[in-house]
Amino acid sequence: MIKVFENFDFSRVGQMQSLLESHDIKTFIKNQYGSSVMGEVPFVEVVPELYVLAEKDLARAKQLLQLDLPVEEPDEDWVCAECGVDIEGTFERCWKCGTGRE
Ligand SMILES: [Zn+2]
Repeated sequence: MIKVFENFDFSRVGQMQSLLESHDIKTFIKNQYGSSVMGEVPFVEVVPELYVLAEKDLARAKQLLQLDLPVEEPDEDWVCAECGVDIEGTFERCWKCGTGRE
């Protein structure tokens, strides 16, 4: 069993599963009922994961997932106009003075 996809959004994982199953790729979702084991496992650690059962399907599965996934441009780092510190691209505001990204 090989993990090919994971997402906090279960519907997204389910979507991917249907996509692969529609191409005759056998899949398995782990943590599908994650919310029901709250109390045993911290909820944040329960991420639905999509597995491909047969290794021979792996390459095809990845290809399919890639076609379907939106291409995300990595955010570029930016410099705060107010205080001049470097901010990681994932942040929309300066961690130091709170100035928003331009
Ligand atoms: Zn700043």
